[in-house]
Amino acid sequence: MSILINGIGVSTGIAIGEAYVYSREHQEVHEYNVPVSQQKKEIQRFKAALAKAGSQLHKIKNKIAVDTPADILAFIDTHLLMLEDPTFDEGTVANIKKLSCNAEWALYLQSQRLVKVFDEMEDAYLRTRKDDVLHVVRRIQDCLADAPDHIPDGQQLKGRIIIADDLTPADTLMLQHQKIAGFVTEFGGQLSHTAILSKNIGIPAIVGAHFARQLIKTGEILIIDGLQGMVINSPDKHSLKHYRALQKEEIARKSLLHNLRDAPVVSTDGKVITLHGNIDRPEDIRTLRSFDNTGVGLYRTEMLFIEKNTWPDEETQFKTYKRALFRLKGELLTIRTIDLGADKETQDSVDQGPMAHNPAMGLRAIRRCMKEPESFVPQLRAILRVAALGPVRMMIPMLTNIEELQQVLNLIARVKRQLRTQNIQFDKNIKVGAMIEVPAAALSADAFAKQLDFLSIGTNDLIQYTLALDRIDDEVSYLYNPLNPAVLQLIQMTINAGKKARIPVSLCGEMASNPQYTRLLLGMGLEYFSVQANTLLEIKHIINHSKISRLRPKIKQILEYSSAHEIEIQLNQLNQREAEKYSH
Ligand code: PEP
Ligand code: MG
Repeated sequence: MSILINGIGVSTGIAIGEAYVYSREHQEVHEYNVPVSQQKKEIQRFKAALAKAGSQLHKIKNKIAVDTPADILAFIDTHLLMLEDPTFDEGTVANIKKLSCNAEWALYLQSQRLVKVFDEMEDAYLRTRKDDVLHVVRRIQDCLADAPDHIPDGQQLKGRIIIADDLTPADTLMLQHQKIAGFVTEFGGQLSHTAILSKNIGIPAIVGAHFARQLIKTGEILIIDGLQGMVINSPDKHSLKHYRALQKEEIARKSLLHNLRDAPVVSTDGKVITLHGNIDRPEDIRTLRSFDNTGVGLYRTEMLFIEKNTWPDEETQFKTYKRALFRLKGELLTIRTIDLGADKETQDSVDQGPMAHNPAMGLRAIRRCMKEPESFVPQLRAILRVAALGPVRMMIPMLTNIEELQQVLNLIARVKRQLRTQNIQFDKNIKVGAMIEVPAAALSADAFAKQLDFLSIGTNDLIQYTLALDRIDDEVSYLYNPLNPAVLQLIQMTINAGKKARIPVSLCGEMASNPQYTRLLLGMGLEYFSVQANTLLEIKHIINHSKISRLRPKIKQILEYSSAHEIEIQLNQLNQREAEKYSH
């Protein structure tokens, strides 16, 4: 009888194959007393385990290095760095001494402390970094217990679907090396490094499939659907036939989309559209370029600040931006100045005092930067300097009024004078643009457009601020709708303002990455999209099969409806008709 197990799909695709249940038993950690006279030996035992864990990771890295790109190997480096971090080492040693306890217990207490710090973080991405802490701790605990580091070697995993409690990035890379078809884990979240990695290497994967190891036995036939987050154990003939057909379709579709790599982005009536990617770190450019050799329409620099837990100095920023620019090999890099605040915060600021009652409306992004110019100026200098080395634009988030814009432009002019006086190379003609992500800015888009070189619509925030709902609050997510007519009007006003002032208007919020909205945005006159790398080819496919002059009047009609629901029905119908037209 078939069994259906649900989890969270983190890497799309269908895999069909034999299950391999990968169970490594983890020792329970017990506390016992270690007298002072034995502490030195206990500390040595702990250090030896740390060294062993490190050498295991290096061994894995060397083994897979031949055919694995450096950016993917960097997932292992994250764990190696954690192993070297004094937080593990010194904290555990201090516990051994203070509590006269064994290394296992001291490490356990230290890991609990670290997990708590991550758990309390507001940012969802950073919150899941605790998975990395737990993975590293588990490896050290296994080393303390002398447990073998065991993923079966050889051919036995080829084409199989791995079922595990949890997998570390290193496990995942070793498994990919052995050509597994996919994996299912009982734990782990959507933003864990293992999930991100599975997406990067393109293995269908499901996490959070509770009790999978109890419900599935090695050797049983499984289907996993990474899009739906669904596992079918012992499928019947019918399901097998259905999913084999889907798998075939998917392979054909992937290769069709793959043919669009580096193809021009141009509608059937000859309108050239710009399609850029969004990145959080220079490393993301590798993924972007695996889909298309295009530029970056949004580089969110706050990740650099969050990961360093402070405002990094000018040189660190310059080197990081330079790395991104060089990886783009001559394509445009749009660097957004830091957008800290609300759901993106460094741990230091969290520790420093009470949060604002309403942080999304508080000292966020450019407001915060202008309040602390001594911290902001190094970023402006780094961006201006890197712009002398290649095509770089600067983008300012969260502007709300023209006075604020003027103050920012004055500050940029002052920083330029400073660099000139110091004889430091910079781009005196750097293009400066604004994110339009607050209704006030959209309503003033004409005035903004007159003073800027480009605009970029941030729908993630524009929706939040227009509809008065917190974008990360599940309770009100039912209201979060890009098709709300008020939101669409603000987008339309911004596009129109750009056209009037003859400056480019891009859209870099999630809305641009959703293929459901591509025709709508084209019909509204949008010519610049900045999207998630993994949706880029799909969006390109739609653009290249759209006749914009025909879409325009249809979209105009749809925009006359006054309810999001009506707009959605009309848009779905249009999307369906258009897709059918080009499928023949
Ligand atoms: C946006 O608000 O749409 C945007 C792209 O910025 P972020 O998601 O980083 O706030
Ligand atoms: Mg935003």
